[in-house]
Amino acid sequence: MTKHIFVTGGVVSSLGKGLTSAAIGLILERRGFRVSMQKLDPYINVDPGTMSPFQHGEVYVLDDGAETDLDLGHYERFTHAYLTGDANFTTGKIYQAVVRKERRGDYLGATVQVIPHITDAIKEAIEAGVSHEDVDVAITEIGGTVGDIESLPFLEAIRQFALERPPEDCIFVHITLLPYLRFSGEMKTKPTQQSVGKLREIGIQPHVLVCRTEQPMTEKMASKISLFCNVRREAVIEERDVDFSIYQVPTDLVAAGFDRILCEHLKLPTDGDTDLSDWHAMLARIKRIDKSCEIAVVGKYIELHDAYKSIYESLDHAGIANDVKVRLRKVKAEDLIDRGTAVLEGANGVLVPGGFGERGMDGKIEAIRWARENGVPFFGICLGLQCAVIEFARNVLALEDAHSIEHSPHTQNPVIHLMPSQEGISDMGGTMRLGAYHCRIDPGTLAAQLYGADSISERHRHRYEVNNDYRDRLVAAGMATSGIHPELDLVEIVELPDHPFFIGVQFHPEFKSKPLQPHPIFKGFVAAAVKNAENSNDLVPQETRA
Ligand code: GLN
Repeated sequence: MTKHIFVTGGVVSSLGKGLTSAAIGLILERRGFRVSMQKLDPYINVDPGTMSPFQHGEVYVLDDGAETDLDLGHYERFTHAYLTGDANFTTGKIYQAVVRKERRGDYLGATVQVIPHITDAIKEAIEAGVSHEDVDVAITEIGGTVGDIESLPFLEAIRQFALERPPEDCIFVHITLLPYLRFSGEMKTKPTQQSVGKLREIGIQPHVLVCRTEQPMTEKMASKISLFCNVRREAVIEERDVDFSIYQVPTDLVAAGFDRILCEHLKLPTDGDTDLSDWHAMLARIKRIDKSCEIAVVGKYIELHDAYKSIYESLDHAGIANDVKVRLRKVKAEDLIDRGTAVLEGANGVLVPGGFGERGMDGKIEAIRWARENGVPFFGICLGLQCAVIEFARNVLALEDAHSIEHSPHTQNPVIHLMPSQEGISDMGGTMRLGAYHCRIDPGTLAAQLYGADSISERHRHRYEVNNDYRDRLVAAGMATSGIHPELDLVEIVELPDHPFFIGVQFHPEFKSKPLQPHPIFKGFVAAAVKNAENSNDLVPQETRA
């Protein structure tokens, strides 16, 4: 018998609903419950795979190859929930399923309508999101903001879903904002009242209000919100902006009694504690950090933090493991062409993330040349590996026009080319090499040393590959291909054994790093950056929080 938690958001977007949902998952796991996590997104794209990272942030990829919303990254970083494509539904995916059924004639002549056909499909999606039979609590986050036209079918569906079950099986958690007006020195409750009013119009009475605030919420305010929003006083919870780490969110919520409220409402056993001792230890460790190093991230979507969300988080995890604060220098790839490598001076490591399209390619290649020639730690991810191979082919093998056929279809030296299985594909959505693939690692290499294993599995999202026709030449000139996908003989990892730390990977390791289990490549990369900073005497003191 699975219990359900529905998380909605009000007043404005970007309240950290994903983070709060993930924190709820963690809290419940730490009380011994098995959780599943799910996101319902009201936009019409079937999945975010075709969306620009500028629009919607990074596309988060799961083991099964599903291209999903970046909030699923929070879920995986905070919990052990097993996520598949069923953990993320969009309006497009729901309608696609309903329209397919209609074309097959499955509705037996009925007029197909939002209620009940779309709402039924949404309820089925919620059931499908419960990943195992023995899940105790399923957490479903509804994307968007209450009041949006697109969210309505989803809200209607969760209303019906709860109505069809005993009251103790479902709980509605609404995350809202208490804006602070600096000129009058007050926090305001009206937007929250209106947002809850909107929910009640639809027939949903939230049981818990998580109030995002900048300033402490006074008792008077909490009582007022309780009265006007018809929510019990103890279920009006403050979630104040964290002062130094997002990993405070779960510990703050427990301190506010959120775990107890959830368990009481859902009639889950309330004996025992929420054991977050390792999280508290991690927070204490973060507070003691007294030095920092700087990593230059050279990319195309630098202006939007969410575009490289998992990479920044992974660097953060690796920093904690190395007891340093990782300062990010976000470098727009084109700046390397306009302003030269001066934009990299002083960086202790260079990371080139994944990407698509021609823009910024030359800048990324130039950044890699700088890191290679100056012995600065380098880490290339997906397109970052491809650029590293192009750079090496051009500047070491002297193949001047070496390129990827993604960017230069007629180059004489296509060192990165299309896999035969990708030729002739015209649909863009969901057709790349996606999800978990096995990789065999050569003993004695940097990769083997970092992973401490000779066989690994990592997630992919790409169409192009290292061209095996060039492999012998690359290796002869000093570039090792230390990781191979044996079944298709594809290069997965390259490295330069003569360099302090130079590694490129065709997969996306950033999707498998967790705060308490940093990814081994990120951890090694930051360790190398620390060494670089020590050698050049620029390990910068960092003010401690202790
Ligand atoms: N554009 C490259 C490809 O499709 C790299 C993709 C990526 O970096 N995720 O192969």
